[in-house]
Amino acid sequence: SLRFASTWNSVPAGGVTEAFNKDTNPLKMSLGVGAYRDDKGKPYVLNCVKKAEKIVFEQNLNKEYLPITGLAEFQKLSAELAFGKDSGPLNAGQIVTCQSLSGTGALRIGGQFLSRFFPGTKKIYVPNPTWGNHHAIFKDSGLETGLYRYFDKKTNGLDISGMIEDLKSFPAGSIILLHACAHNPTGVDPTPDQWADISSVCKSKGHFIFFDMAYQGFASGDATRDAFALRHFVERDGHQVMLAQSFAKNLGLYGERIGNFSLITDSASEAARVASQVKIVVRPMYSNPPSTGARIVKEILSNEQLRSEWHTEVAGMAKRIHAMRSALRNGLAQHGSKHNWEHITSQIGMFCYTGISPEQVGRLAKEFSIYLTKDGRISIAGINPGNVDYLAKSLHEVTK
Ligand code: PMP
Repeated sequence: SLRFASTWNSVPAGGVTEAFNKDTNPLKMSLGVGAYRDDKGKPYVLNCVKKAEKIVFEQNLNKEYLPITGLAEFQKLSAELAFGKDSGPLNAGQIVTCQSLSGTGALRIGGQFLSRFFPGTKKIYVPNPTWGNHHAIFKDSGLETGLYRYFDKKTNGLDISGMIEDLKSFPAGSIILLHACAHNPTGVDPTPDQWADISSVCKSKGHFIFFDMAYQGFASGDATRDAFALRHFVERDGHQVMLAQSFAKNLGLYGERIGNFSLITDSASEAARVASQVKIVVRPMYSNPPSTGARIVKEILSNEQLRSEWHTEVAGMAKRIHAMRSALRNGLAQHGSKHNWEHITSQIGMFCYTGISPEQVGRLAKEFSIYLTKDGRISIAGINPGNVDYLAKSLHEVTK
């Protein structure tokens, strides 16, 4: 039947991974993946996760459904991790939470909630560029996406004046999506002072903020430091934000699909009313969330020893990423590159937005079997001591 033929065209063709898999060059590199790899290029399961899994297994729990909004202890610990234990709205019972299918699921709950209840607009402004799925998630939630300036191609850094100008020019009471830390795909974050300015402007315009926090702890190696922007907006300027949290990267729980959705309301009584609306949003989408990931995270965040082991491990991942950034930059210099590659080390998180053209991306694939997305984004996680020199040499060749 041709009934669904028109939708086939909109599915993106396999692309990077497929081409990588077919390539027989032993030096081939896959730099498109959005998942952490260790020094040998292998997926990494955290020790704290293995220990928590064992504890959970030994508890011999049943497989009953969780409530619609998930595992309550998990939600509480998750919100504390993000907002801070001493958060005003948290302790006043103003924050509604709901366990989600990782960060994507939290974004979708938020998108759906906003499209149903946000007064006056169906538009959400996202940074240019942003994680591609944001556009699809919000579109499917019944919202339209708009863009604000973010990345400056000339400096490979933040276009802070363009961003502020745009935030000022949007209608009062607009919805703004912000990446809380380790912006994907650019790896460019505002400084604390710039965050303070962004918060003030949004406050004075009455904008509503939706924070996407997919990399807490993974960005700097310090979960508190990575929560700076979120906590500043909430505690200093009183923004009643919405938040999407993911435990995919910072705990390496990708396939467990574990995340958390939060929304700050005006009062505990409004929180109760909003919570019931959140349930009405969730119930027809998937009824209730899976239990395993929530149990693992709960175990780690509530057990002091596991929690401290997690801090050490997440800092180790961040450190390895940073070391690979430095090695790549040094390698480029050693091979004689005259370009300014400072942004490789100043950008943060899993990704580096190299600034190379689609043609240069094409040459890297064709001549050197190095695969990345067309926008020139490198997943630093795919780099290790064994392949960084080959990458530096090849990158230099295509940018001469
Ligand atoms: N937001 C951003 C900015 C991301 O980069 C990602 C992961 N690529 C996510 C959200 C969500 O990922 P997940 O659904 O796996 O938690």
